[in-house]
Parts: sequence; structure tokens; C-alpha cells
Amino acid sequence: MCLFCKIVNKEIPSNIVAENDDFFAFHDINPKAPVHILAIPKLHVDSFAETTPEMMAGMTSFIQEITKTENIKDSGYRVITNIGENGGQEVKHLHFHILGGAKLSWDHLTDSNPKAFL
Ligand code: AMP
Repeated sequence: MCLFCKIVNKEIPSNIVAENDDFFAFHDINPKAPVHILAIPKLHVDSFAETTPEMMAGMTSFIQEITKTENIKDSGYRVITNIGENGGQEVKHLHFHILGGAKLSWDHLTDSNPKAFL
């Protein structure tokens, strides 16, 4: 069972933000912003590449609700999902990073050097 499946099953503790029948949200253990929450489906899906429009419909509402309860809806926020090797995905269970609570720069979430590819 993967790390995030164990978190959903509460075999591994997490700082829970929200939960319903299909989705689960918890604070990232290594926050990159004042608000850094991970929203995941309870059903194991490897990444965005394998999700369905139906799952994304529920996920969209779930994320939007979290931005209200966390008070970042009006100030703005960022939603990111990393996919696969080049996307920098470390945990192979679909998750959306919800980042906010401060003005986010574009490059502070990456340690890659674009010039290295030129
Ligand atoms: P990614 O690189 O997109 O796969 O992101 C994985 C995220 O999971 C990282 O931001 C980690 O800090 C976070 N993470 C890893 N283990 C845990 C954990 N046990 N509880 C909360 N967040 C975690």
C-alpha cells in the first residue's frame, strides 16, 4: 500500500484538513507556503494521467471548498499536480498541492535551472 493510501486509512497520522467519502486533504509535512495542503482521492490513482473527468469534477469542488475554509479563496492561491519523472512527482498517488497565504513567486517551488536546458 502506498504512503498516501496509508494516510487515507489513518495507518500513518496526518494533520487532516478535510475529508468526505471520496477525497481527503491534509497539511504537507514540508510546507512551501504558509498554507500548503495536499488534496487526494481516497481511491488510489497513480497521477493526473490516470484520473477521470468524473473524479476531477469531485476534486474540483473539494479543492474549492478547502480554499474557503482555509481563507485563501479571495487572496488567491495556486493548485499544482506533479506528474511522473519530469514533473517531479515523488509520491505516486494523485495529489494536488494547494498553496497560498502569501504572494507566491513563480520560481520558488523549483530547484531546476532552466538555463541548463539551453
Ligand atoms: P510530489 O513531489 O508532488 O510527489 O509531492 C509529494 C509531497 O508529499 C511533498 O510536498 C512532501 O512534502 C509531501 N509528503 C510526503 N510525505 C508526507 C507525509 N507523511 N505527510 C504529509 N505530506 C507528506
